[in-house]
Amino acid sequence: MRMYDIIEKKRDGGKLSQEEIAFWIDGYVKGEIPDYQVSSLLMAIFFRGLDDEELTNLTLIMAHSGDMVDLSEINGIKVDKHSTGGVGDKTTFIVAPIVAALGGKVAKMSGKGLGFTGGTADKLESIPGYRINIPKEDFIRQVNEIGISLISQSGNLTPADKKLYALRDVTATVESIPLIASSIMSKKIASGADKIVLDVKLGSGAFMKMIEDAKCLAEKMVNIGRLAQKETIALITNMDVPLGENVGNSLEVIEAIEVLKGRGPKDLLEVSIELATAMVMLSKQISQEEARELVKTVIVNGEAFEKLRQVVRAQGGDVSWIDDTSRFPEAKYKVEVRAPQAGYICGMNTEEIGKVACTLGAGRETKEDQIDYSAGLKILKKTSDFVNQDEVLAILYTNKEEIIEEAKQKYIQALAFSENGVEKPKLIYEIIK
Ligand code: URA
Repeated sequence: MRMYDIIEKKRDGGKLSQEEIAFWIDGYVKGEIPDYQVSSLLMAIFFRGLDDEELTNLTLIMAHSGDMVDLSEINGIKVDKHSTGGVGDKTTFIVAPIVAALGGKVAKMSGKGLGFTGGTADKLESIPGYRINIPKEDFIRQVNEIGISLISQSGNLTPADKKLYALRDVTATVESIPLIASSIMSKKIASGADKIVLDVKLGSGAFMKMIEDAKCLAEKMVNIGRLAQKETIALITNMDVPLGENVGNSLEVIEAIEVLKGRGPKDLLEVSIELATAMVMLSKQISQEEARELVKTVIVNGEAFEKLRQVVRAQGGDVSWIDDTSRFPEAKYKVEVRAPQAGYICGMNTEEIGKVACTLGAGRETKEDQIDYSAGLKILKKTSDFVNQDEVLAILYTNKEEIIEEAKQKYIQALAFSENGVEKPKLIYEIIK
């Protein structure tokens, strides 16, 4: 078999066999096939696509390119959640304890953030003492004992995805729906859960900008899950506006705690309830209505919050910070951004707002960058709100004095104002099963 023939076949719209996909992926992971040939094939896939069979084969071969996490020692149905990434997305901290409080098993491995979307692993590390790397035996034991463990991805999980993603990033092939679907689902399949809930973000702060593309991606991933015998539900949710009010690592942990204490922003609460509902439906095999009622109950009665305390304590974190979030250090500079004019906010460029948070110190531009856990922003006015001139739109938190003016200007530029009111954005567009 020759890589040249595989490229030529896809270039001309042909269908790749399982053997051809395995030849390409195995050869690339072993370093036997060069970047330039794989780049060329990725571009051919970008234009020609992959049918369902090719996509499932690619996903499974990528999943098996490294370690496959074995969660069989955990009793019960293991349910996982994945978000395609967004600004202010801290739902894992809310949803995972809710599901565990209802008897579900959440053995969750999360990544570090790169670019404008934050990583769950970084947010966890903002809790002092919290160990995101624990031995596999402890991970399994903890999920059996308290129903939940939240750790960082470790080991040699999907090396094919790591290499391909890095190559896609520099060859303008990230935005290919089949390549995104196989990238996400290969990691979920290798992570070992039985059932999967996907939060496909749509809007100015997400990969998917058009509803048709988000739907297509969601449907492809749900289909891959079904073919891999891992029942999957996808929710398409709004990322035209940051989720909740807080963006930045410890700021997001604090906000998630607020929601579990029955407070916190309404949009974050609503999206979290729907994601948790889908996970509870899958883990308990019950209807959406029954699951939603249970979810609301454990928020109101404090059991979900207690589950968060348990997971933090089990992983060495200081629970007193969860009980009293004023213990999280505040950044040295706390700066108000004020409205340059009166009017309705009619749009937010959420990716740009994520970039402002990075500039303030909340994110990484390269893998080596250090994160400032206290940096970030609090959004006080969002799309559809009316603001008076000079009213406070947001508060920036940073330890870097020299970037404050630039960050303020960039934040204002990320907003659009209008004389006319606009509707409140929809939070959940569709649920695909
Ligand atoms: N997230 C992933 O894990 N992979 C992609 O290709 C895009 C988003």
